[in-house]
Amino acid sequence: MLFGVAEPELVDVVVVGLGVGGEEVAERLAEAGLNVVGVERDLVGGECPYWGCIPSKMMIRAANALAEARRVDGLAGTAQVQPDWAPVAKRIREEATDTWDDTVAAERFVGKGGRLVRGSGRLDGPRRVRVGDQVFEARHGVVLGTGTRPSVPPIDGLADTPYWTNHQAIEVEELPESLLVLGGGAIGLELAQVFARFGVRVTVVEALDRVLAIEEPEASEVAAAALRADGVEIHTGVRAERVEHDGTRFTLRGGGAEFTADRLLVVTGRKAHLAELGLDTIGLDASQRYLPVDDRLHVTDHVWAVGDITGEGAFTHIAMYQAGIVIADILARARQAKAGADASGTSSVVGGAMGASSSLAASGSSGSAGTVPRADYRALPRVTFTDPEIGAVGLTEQQARERGINVQVGFTKLASSTRGWIHRVGDDGFIKLVADADQGVLIGATSAGPAGGEVLSALVVAVHAAVPLSQLRHMIYAYPTFHRAIETALRDLS
Ligand SMILES: Cc1cc2nc3c(=O)[nH]c(=O)nc-3n(C[C@H](O)[C@H](O)[C@H](O)COP(=O)(O)OP(=O)(O)OC[C@H]3O[C@@H](n4cnc5c(N)ncnc54)[C@H](O)[C@@H]3O)c2cc1C
Repeated sequence: MLFGVAEPELVDVVVVGLGVGGEEVAERLAEAGLNVVGVERDLVGGECPYWGCIPSKMMIRAANALAEARRVDGLAGTAQVQPDWAPVAKRIREEATDTWDDTVAAERFVGKGGRLVRGSGRLDGPRRVRVGDQVFEARHGVVLGTGTRPSVPPIDGLADTPYWTNHQAIEVEELPESLLVLGGGAIGLELAQVFARFGVRVTVVEALDRVLAIEEPEASEVAAAALRADGVEIHTGVRAERVEHDGTRFTLRGGGAEFTADRLLVVTGRKAHLAELGLDTIGLDASQRYLPVDDRLHVTDHVWAVGDITGEGAFTHIAMYQAGIVIADILARARQAKAGADASGTSSVVGGAMGASSSLAASGSSGSAGTVPRADYRALPRVTFTDPEIGAVGLTEQQARERGINVQVGFTKLASSTRGWIHRVGDDGFIKLVADADQGVLIGATSAGPAGGEVLSALVVAVHAAVPLSQLRHMIYAYPTFHRAIETALRDLS
C-alpha cells in the first residue's frame, strides 16, 4: 500500500464474471497452468445453472410429462393426472442449485488452480481490475464475462410493484393461481407453458404482433397454438402502459385492455450493464447496448469478452463456443510470450506464466495466434423448449430476403410425415428450409415438432458445412423418423 493506494498484484489473467463463459475460460486457463484470478459477485456458474437453462428445463421436463400423460386418452386408455409442483421445486432446489449455493463450482475452480475473488470487478486502466481494495494487473489480459440481467421496460408504475423476473419464477415453491407474463419471447413462452400445465391461469402479453417474433412466422403460429391448447391466453400487439399492484393482485393496462393476475412475470429481454465495468478507464464507450468484439472476441488489446455481454446471442452454447476461442487465443499468446522470454533469457523477469511453462507446453495449445479459430455465427442454433420444440438455425426467410439473397423456401408439415401421422396427438410442427439458390446450400432452417431441437442437428450441420443441396437430396433418411421430413421439405424447395 502506497499512500493508501493498493499496489497491483501481478497475475496472468483476470476473468471478471464467472458465468458460463467466464467460468469455462478461468477454469481451463487455470488447468493449463496460468495464474488466473476469477472475480464473481454472486454465484460461480452464473445464470444458466441457477436461474436459467437447467432449472427451466427441469420444469419443462416435468410439465411435458404431465402433457404426455394427458395424451394417454385416445391413444392408450385413460389416465388421471394430478399435478404437484412440490417435486419440481424440490428437484430444482436440491439437484440443480444446491439451494442456490455455488460451493461445488467454487471448489472445482479452486481445485483446478484458480483463485476465486468474491466481489464486483471493474477495469482500472489497461490490464488492471479492481475488486474493492484489491487491484490485479493481468500480464496476458482481462476477460469480461459479466453477462446480462433482465431488461425491465420503463412502464408507468411497474418499478414500484413486486413483479417477478426469471429469478422468482425459477425459485417459486408454491404456484400462484394466475400469472401474467409480459413478453412473448422464448423464455416467456417456455415458462408460460410450464405454469399452465401445472394449472396456473396464464396470460401472455406481447407488444409485437406475434410471439417468438425473431423466428419464422410459422413457428410463432405453432407455438401460439400449442400454448392456447394448454389454456394460455395470448394477447399480441398490446403495449403495456401501466402496472399496478393493490397488495394482492397485479393489474396491467395497455391497448385499451386490462389484465389482472396474482403474479406478474417480466421477461422482456436482457441487458448488459456496461457502465459498471470501468470501460472508460481504457477509453471505451460504456453507453453501448453490448460490448462489440472481433472474431477472436477481442474488445481491445488485452481485453476479451465472452457470452451474453457480446450481443452475439444469449445462449449458453454461444458463451461456451466463444470461451473456446478465447482460451486458445490466450494460451497461444502465453506460449509466444514464454518462447520470447526463453530466447532472451528473461523468463524470470516475465514471471508467473513462466512458472507454468511445463503445463502450458503439455496443454497442447496452439503455438501461434494464426491457428486460433475465428468465431463464425452463420450456423447459430436456437431452440425454444416449448412443446412442440422450435429449433432454428441461421437466417429466417425474411432475413435472407433482406440481404438480397436469391432465396428458395421448402416447407412441410410434420403431421403429413409418416412419423407425424403415427404420433398423432402432439404432432404439430414443420420443417422449413431457406436456401441460397445461387450457392445451392441451406442458409437457414426451422424444425418445429415433438423433437424439434434434436431434429435441428442435421440442419445445423448442413448450414455450418454448407453441404450442397444435391448431396442433402441424395442422403438416406431413416424411416419413419421425424427428421425424414427434411427430405420432403428439400423436395419442396422452389
Ligand atoms: C430462464 C432462462 C432460460 C434459459 N435457457 C437457456 C437454454 O435453454 N439454452 C441456452 O443456451 N441458454 C439459455 N439461457 C441463456 C443462458 O443462461 C445465458 O446465455 C448464459 O447464462 C450466458 O452466460 P454468460 O457467461 O454470458 O453470463 P451469465 O451466466 O449471466 O454470468 C455472468 C456472471 O457475471 C457475474 N458478474 C456480473 N457483473 C460482475 C462484476 N462486475 N464483477 C463480478 N461478477 C460479475 C454475475 O454475477 C454472473 O454470475 C436461458 C436464460 C434464462 C434467463
